[in-house]
Amino acid sequence: MKYISTRGQAPVLSFEEAMLTGLARDGGLYLPESIPELSHDEIAALEGVSYEEAAFRIMKPYIGDTFTDDEFRAIIARAYDGFDHAARAPLKQLDSGHFLLELFHGPTLAFKDFAMQLIGQLFEASLKRSGSRVCIVGATSGDTGSAAIEAFRGLEAVDVFILYPHGRVSEVQRRQMSTPSESNVHALAVDGHFDDCQARVKDMFNDFAFRDAVGLAGVNSINWARVLAQVVYYFTSAVSLGAPQRKVSFTVPTGNFGDIFAGYIAKRMGLPVDRLVVATNQNDILHRCLSTSEYKPDGVIPSISPSMDIQVSSNFERALFEAYGRDGAAVSQLMEELGAGAFNVSQGALEALRETFDSGRCDEDETRATIRDVHARTGELLCPHGAVGVKVAEEQRVPRTPIITLATAHPAKFPDAVEGASGIHPPLPPAMSDLYERSERITRVANDLGAIETLIRERTGN
Ligand SMILES: *Cc1c(COP(=O)(O)O)cnc(C)c1O
Repeated sequence: MKYISTRGQAPVLSFEEAMLTGLARDGGLYLPESIPELSHDEIAALEGVSYEEAAFRIMKPYIGDTFTDDEFRAIIARAYDGFDHAARAPLKQLDSGHFLLELFHGPTLAFKDFAMQLIGQLFEASLKRSGSRVCIVGATSGDTGSAAIEAFRGLEAVDVFILYPHGRVSEVQRRQMSTPSESNVHALAVDGHFDDCQARVKDMFNDFAFRDAVGLAGVNSINWARVLAQVVYYFTSAVSLGAPQRKVSFTVPTGNFGDIFAGYIAKRMGLPVDRLVVATNQNDILHRCLSTSEYKPDGVIPSISPSMDIQVSSNFERALFEAYGRDGAAVSQLMEELGAGAFNVSQGALEALRETFDSGRCDEDETRATIRDVHARTGELLCPHGAVGVKVAEEQRVPRTPIITLATAHPAKFPDAVEGASGIHPPLPPAMSDLYERSERITRVANDLGAIETLIRERTGN
């Protein structure tokens, strides 16, 4: 399988190259040259197999001969070994025809573990084989950084540096980044905002001398391997509700469009998905775009579902590429217009998007009310992101087609918001119950490129 860029100008790469590169050199995102389909019988045969076995069968066509079957099976087994639920992604019934897919049983209690744990093992296997080392640098507002640190801690071929805004992440998120004791992980508290952290990471990637000297690599949500890992749970959950004989819809709390795009890939692979519903919080640029065709960022308003507080939704570019019939020149044009402020999706492309995607928004009061009401009705305590999904799903449901809402984080990851809405303090799961007693290791750094680069060079001996 070869990988092509959404802007049509970057070299065609193998799976391994696309994974290690992340962003394409023309600024685009990688996608497989063609999307493999599973037959009706192959999908039906996923019924009753383990999550790991389903993951192997679904992802295998995309990785080709990058790894032998035994190697790839071992990679998947190690990736999901640390999850605290045997089903990995268990499905719970909320109401008649409405189900909750719990994606928070990984080590950092958010769905990002599904992709990050796998990518950690894929990187390690690939780098060990080539004898090289990389230095992963990322910026985080909370969830991505903890998932990355947890996935790469203790691996031999990787150092990981995560920049987060000092004083602006939740205590659980900070402790998840600062308590791992392995010497290859480095939590850097930057004196600045999340945007500063992201800008410094970008600066490092643009400093080619530094980039080459330390072997910089990125694992942000545009990495194709992350999207691929997320395709799996669309299949396992739909099959457990009767696919491929029965159609299923999904509602996905969305920010960067990575998770819901994985659902689109599952549909293209032959899974009978009826609707994919984009659920946004008050930062509703995706809902506005799908409703009006205009994509126009107008500033982030901080919410109680912070992992969706986004204006530039990077993976949406992949959906646009498909909606424009894989026309890289058209996508480049849109991204250029975005650089100047906004773009409009063409009528044809908008119709193509609406064939698959619906959308809705949920404001702060509605999010809190949903946490409270769902707990009162079902006993289920939702995190604010999952609550956005549940609210939008309730508005968009149609009779007879079951709908699955993705619960993207554990309520204990956002204890203040959950307690504020429901009056209940969500306890951490047992494996993490001593998080507040573990000792922390944090390096405070100035919001200064030179200082950050010097620190990374010293720590990696480059
Ligand atoms: C990252 C994140 C999201 C948004 O996912 P995207 O793939 O960026 O759309 C939603 N909920 C939680 C808890 C997250 O961490």
